[in-house]
Amino acid sequence: MKTELLPFSEQSAVKAAEILAHGGIVGIPTETVYGLAADARNEAAVRSIFEAKGRPQDNPLIVHISDISQLPPLVREVTPLAMKIAEKFWAGPLTMIFPKSDVIPAATSGGLDTVAVRMPSSPAARAIIDACGFPLAAPSANLSGSPSPTTAQHVLKDMNGRIPLIIDGGECSCGVESTVLCFPAADRVRILRPGGITAEMLSELCAVEIDPAVTSEPEKGAKVLSPGMKYKHYSPKADVFIIDAHGRAFENWCIAHADNRTTALSQDSREHDMFRCFGKDPQEQAHRLFALLREADDEGAQRIYVEMPSKEGIGLAVYNRLLRAAAFRIVSVDDEQK
Ligand code: AMP
Ligand code: MG
Repeated sequence: MKTELLPFSEQSAVKAAEILAHGGIVGIPTETVYGLAADARNEAAVRSIFEAKGRPQDNPLIVHISDISQLPPLVREVTPLAMKIAEKFWAGPLTMIFPKSDVIPAATSGGLDTVAVRMPSSPAARAIIDACGFPLAAPSANLSGSPSPTTAQHVLKDMNGRIPLIIDGGECSCGVESTVLCFPAADRVRILRPGGITAEMLSELCAVEIDPAVTSEPEKGAKVLSPGMKYKHYSPKADVFIIDAHGRAFENWCIAHADNRTTALSQDSREHDMFRCFGKDPQEQAHRLFALLREADDEGAQRIYVEMPSKEGIGLAVYNRLLRAAAFRIVSVDDEQK
């Protein structure tokens, strides 16, 4: 199959919608990362997403809508708290989990009785959903396990020959996937995956719990609320290590432990050519993380050392993705020097 890459326009949105209406799959831009979209109601179409990505069947997909009026048919209940959160944070990088209606096939929900729904703010994503007139199931448009795509070129690299069309909407502004939350009680939310809508932002509306799987490795065979959290994720080919040191201590440690196939992501720019500046601002780190991991692979890096990010705000999302990219390997420099 030949993969066409078209810049986003009204016409290309209509072309995407035609393919999607016939059960095809299309790479689409969103403000978080690029998505691999199909009609969320069409079991066969959704199965082809899993096939193209090599995604485990029990890892459910997020369903994307462009207007709140599209939510009720997909779910059995929307609580007052969910409504309040939708009013404040939609459209935006926030996904909520609801009991699902029969409109959503088991393929979309990974066999669960619930469905994850989000309303993206990206004008391109919204125009494509509008042109379709039906909700789109769309996981990140990468091969399962690899870093998520934040440009159309990243999607082409992973999906060339596997899908008919990619719509290029430029670089994703957020750069990490949406916050995923569920409702353990009427007055609280639990963050299953951190993202652009942060715990701090949500706590202005209600009590916020952070699922233990966000910052630690689920035990083998343990039941995890968000199935995606149990899989190896976001990983470049190189081995990633989070280095728990900052500034000069980080620089010195990297130089002492590097060879010519090592890349290091530092928060300040550094002279040694192994360093790539990742920024100090968590927002900037989120925006650049996946592109930097992919670049390191393109340069043939075997190891990537990353300066420990902050866990505040969207920093928690950066830390969560890095932990999985690093297979939970954190090097404590102080311990090593004792
Ligand atoms: P991706 O589409 O690749 O961004 O991943 C979607 C994330 O949302 C994965 O971590 C899924 O496990 C999670 N997710 C989707 N639907 C549900 C659901 N019904 N219950 C819990 N987690 C979900
Ligand atoms: Mg993904």
